[in-house]
Amino acid sequence: MKYEQTHPDIREAVAKLCADYPGAYWRKLDREQAYPTKFVTALTKAGFLSALIPETFGGSGLTISAAAAILEEIHLNGCNAAACHAQMYTMGTLLRHGSDVQKETYLPQIASGDLRLQAFAVTEPTSGTDTGALRTVAKRDGDDFVVNGQKIWISRTQHSDLMILLCRTTPLDQVAKKTHGLSVLLVDMREADEKSLHIRPIRTMMNHATTEMFFDNLRVPAKNLIGEEGKGFRYILSGMNAERILIAAECIGDAKWFIERACDYGRDRKVFGRPIAQNQGVQFPIAQAYAKMRSAELMLKEAIRLYEAGENPGEEANLAKMLAADASWAAAEMCVQTHGGFGFAEEYDIERKFRETRLYQVAPISTNLILSYISEHVLDLPRSF
Ligand SMILES: Cc1cc2nc3c(=O)[nH]c(=O)nc-3n(C[C@H](O)[C@H](O)[C@H](O)COP(=O)(O)OP(=O)(O)OC[C@H]3O[C@@H](n4cnc5c(N)ncnc54)[C@H](O)[C@@H]3O)c2cc1C
Repeated sequence: MKYEQTHPDIREAVAKLCADYPGAYWRKLDREQAYPTKFVTALTKAGFLSALIPETFGGSGLTISAAAAILEEIHLNGCNAAACHAQMYTMGTLLRHGSDVQKETYLPQIASGDLRLQAFAVTEPTSGTDTGALRTVAKRDGDDFVVNGQKIWISRTQHSDLMILLCRTTPLDQVAKKTHGLSVLLVDMREADEKSLHIRPIRTMMNHATTEMFFDNLRVPAKNLIGEEGKGFRYILSGMNAERILIAAECIGDAKWFIERACDYGRDRKVFGRPIAQNQGVQFPIAQAYAKMRSAELMLKEAIRLYEAGENPGEEANLAKMLAADASWAAAEMCVQTHGGFGFAEEYDIERKFRETRLYQVAPISTNLILSYISEHVLDLPRSF
């Protein structure tokens, strides 16, 4: 299938790298719920994960559209960037709000892959989407913050050296708004012992290296506070447009993969003496999935255009993420149906990709929360919560 292609050279290089990691590689990891270390190392060495780090700090200094092309291409080639996409954009909090010393200390090592910043810890078991209600606290004690609390669904912590942690530094009853009094700490997990930072893996329906974390008087040097104390929520929000755009790109890649697989199979598979895709009952769902993917892709393109023009495309980035996640899920469902029984067979990879792409209806932000953002901030409807 021919698509309008941005960054053809980058796409070609990514596709070439992905060819070394075929379905069999991912199937084996999926069975064992193991981390794709070789794949992530190859992407790191090729410089793809440092795309958004400026050249002055050793990165490739590429645009968000180049980063989106990298992630889309990974998914379009049947691979999964969820194991490492955070290395690409989590450093944005440090880049935008960190001190010169912090940036010079960490960014070049993150760019080279010597330091892995794959973990980003916001969600908690009791607060869920209501971030302002989070309960993990950091109290100043001399030159350190002392962290106590719990996080859940924090991905890649066991494959990361550093972690961006959002925690409360001013008690809830002493702030005007519940999103005030939160701060961002850069935690060097290599320095933590098992008691002060306990990590428990969570097995999930897809292979996703996600974990639960327990903080018991974990000491984090105060010099690792990013930006000003109490302004952490704003810092985390400032990275959301980039995250939405990049996740949308992954979903577009997934949708294209499902559509291509369905078209190939629909042409080849003969039942009642003709290709199944000759039946409109089979070809229309494929065409519908294509239409959904293309409209999501256009919204993504618009979000990227505005982002690169220096604007704040909250509406477009959120819509792109929601539409792309819906498109990839619709394409996944269609692809299983087109394959009949074979859609359920492990060796076809479709059931695996189906499980993997389901996540994006819920994380990193659920569809309802995007609809709530659009209702309140775009349509000016009454605030719901
Ligand atoms: C595999 C995986 C990896 C993840 N990785 C990370 C990570 O690395 N770091 C991190 O910080 N988090 C991570 N998350 C957490 C993820 O961001 C959250 O699961 C997600 O934001 C939803 O929060 P929740 O699970 O607490 O759901 P809840 O907040 O409990 O919501 C449950 C459901 O109710 C809906 N809902 C809640 N409130 C409302 C409302 N007011 N109106 C309408 N609907 C509502 C939600 O849309 C959702 O569908 C991950 C999650 C998963 C499953």
